[in-house]
Amino acid sequence: MKEFELIKYIRKTFQENNRKKNLLVPIGDDCSVLVPPKGMAQVTTIDSLVEGNHFSSKYFTPREIGRKALRVNLSDLASMGALPPYYAWLVFAIPSNYSDTSIMGILAGVKEDCKRYDVTLAGGNITGSAEFQIHLALSGWVKPRKMLTRSGARPGDHIFITGTIGASTLAYQQFKAGKRPYPWLVKRWANPEPKLGIGIFLAENKLATACIDVSDGVFQDLGHIIKASNAGAELFWEKLPIFPRLKKLNPTPQMIGFGEDYELLFTVSPRNLKKLKPLSLQITEIGRVTKHGLKVYSSNGEEINATNIGFSHLA
Ligand SMILES: [Mg+2]
Repeated sequence: MKEFELIKYIRKTFQENNRKKNLLVPIGDDCSVLVPPKGMAQVTTIDSLVEGNHFSSKYFTPREIGRKALRVNLSDLASMGALPPYYAWLVFAIPSNYSDTSIMGILAGVKEDCKRYDVTLAGGNITGSAEFQIHLALSGWVKPRKMLTRSGARPGDHIFITGTIGASTLAYQQFKAGKRPYPWLVKRWANPEPKLGIGIFLAENKLATACIDVSDGVFQDLGHIIKASNAGAELFWEKLPIFPRLKKLNPTPQMIGFGEDYELLFTVSPRNLKKLKPLSLQITEIGRVTKHGLKVYSSNGEEINATNIGFSHLA
């Protein structure tokens, strides 16, 4: 497809859901214009998926790639406690030999999850490129006094994580070993469920002092929280909710810190612990906030070295 044909195709594919009342000027003009709901502030994130760096079409189908582009951004919105409706801006960088079927598959995936998560495509851009890339910006809404950030953790706060960690690393290890992982495991890596409900619950009830989504690995992302909060942390290895099939393999800290878990990692002050009850089945306490340093302890109290573990975007 030529550029203008593709633009026409995208507009047609997404037209049914761009009549949201907050979207004063939808896709198709020079800019899109959003009107914030009363008392709300706009929260925006952007993420890039570059073929060969962030994903491979050897591992994922086009539809899975499209859904992944949306979901990794939704996970960032979840970590701030952002409320819907959400708005997306989509940029494709496409090599000249890239197939129309792949592009249409990716768009079908984006569309499917737009519907599922109340996302409206508000604009975008298309350009040529040596390697295939998708960049997606996503916006939602926060009440300024209730939003979650990375910077409020205080010594004595309890550290929690949602779900389990390690399914993505397991899928990756299996691909790398030349095995074909179970389709449900690949799906879990390609299309993680963004924890929007939990993020919103934490924000609305002002329960978390700090929050982040685990994209770069649990150790590195906890590092981001303590750095932004000017604090430290201790983690207890045996408390980490490791994905059961991975746990059987006696995973190394490198495997656990691989990332792409898209769970929420958050801190809660002792006086709010009781209010977490509605989440008790979906979260695990894994450590405490301290004054400084990041320490990980094994079950016999020995320190595990967890520095320099996790995804580096410029490695
Ligand atoms: Mg994030």
